[in-house]
Amino acid sequence: MASYVQAGELAAQHIKRQFPEFQWQWQIVRKPRYPAYGMLDPLDLLESGVQEKIKNHWDFAVVLVSNELKARYRIATLGVPSSALEVGVLSGHELVGDPDKSRKLAGLALHILGHLWGLEHSAEGVMVPPEHASQLRPESFSDDERLAVVRRLEEVSDIRVEERNSGQGMFRFYWNTFRADPRSLVVDVIGYAPWRLPLKMGRMTAATVVSMLFMVLSPEPWQLGIDLDGVALAAGTLLSIVCATVFIFAGQNLGQVTRELGFREQVARTRMVTFLTLFLGLFSLWLMLFIVMSAVALGFPREIVGGWLGGDVRLDTADAFRYAAFMAVLGIVAGAVGGNIEEEAEIKADLFFDEEV
Ligand SMILES: [Zn+2]
Repeated sequence: MASYVQAGELAAQHIKRQFPEFQWQWQIVRKPRYPAYGMLDPLDLLESGVQEKIKNHWDFAVVLVSNELKARYRIATLGVPSSALEVGVLSGHELVGDPDKSRKLAGLALHILGHLWGLEHSAEGVMVPPEHASQLRPESFSDDERLAVVRRLEEVSDIRVEERNSGQGMFRFYWNTFRADPRSLVVDVIGYAPWRLPLKMGRMTAATVVSMLFMVLSPEPWQLGIDLDGVALAAGTLLSIVCATVFIFAGQNLGQVTRELGFREQVARTRMVTFLTLFLGLFSLWLMLFIVMSAVALGFPREIVGGWLGGDVRLDTADAFRYAAFMAVLGIVAGAVGGNIEEEAEIKADLFFDEEV
């Protein structure tokens, strides 16, 4: 415990020295919540970090445990930053018995805080991705990194929306939160690379593809798709993506990580980032399906479709695109169901983890 407190003090000193333009307050809260041995899921620790952060009105929180962390994408992990939640988790497990433990932990804490403040990896300094715990040390941020962090912290230290005006309705509150800083919201969403979501959510995409396979070989979707006009298809696309987003967001309790009574800007912001990321992820899935189905429709033997549709119907390219758009809408509906077969913890990890250090 003593080395953990020392590590915290060391990290705080570094931060105070490198960012003297801000008034720093830091606080250690000790929670005997888990047994000292055994693997812990970083997701649970992030959730308890979020709770503490909100309860104590902190801007950021770092959860430090002596247990090993459960890794999802790598063999082992020293820590997990989540800039969406503005919370990081780190483990001292690899450093048991290390005489230099507190300095190394401080280095790790600075690296994780760097991620929470929006920094990417670099070739030297704090943001070098540590391949092994022995490489950790509390170093300085480079000048560029320092500037980026100062900009980020200036935004954070602005008065939060809930402090500015109270007694407003939910929609107004969300709107004000959005208006307070739309740029960083967009930057965060892009940082999550939502277009990669269809690949990450394998079960959802598989459910979609299987249902497509069956539908390609039956005449009804051709008849329905070709009869719809562009406006109906555009409306159907938007509606299906919005509904699928709401369905997965609610079904996977994605809003629940940040549950809290009353409105808070950070909570509202995290929810908006999550929702938008999911929305764009599903839009990417639609686009992917549309492209694949267009290719299928253009290559499908015309005689077969002609036979299905009866008589001498001639299909043109626009028909093929309408059919593809209609099939993509059906795919999104299937995907929404498939998305809820996905493990809840896996989706949350995909959305909330910046990396496993
Ligand atoms: Zn990193």
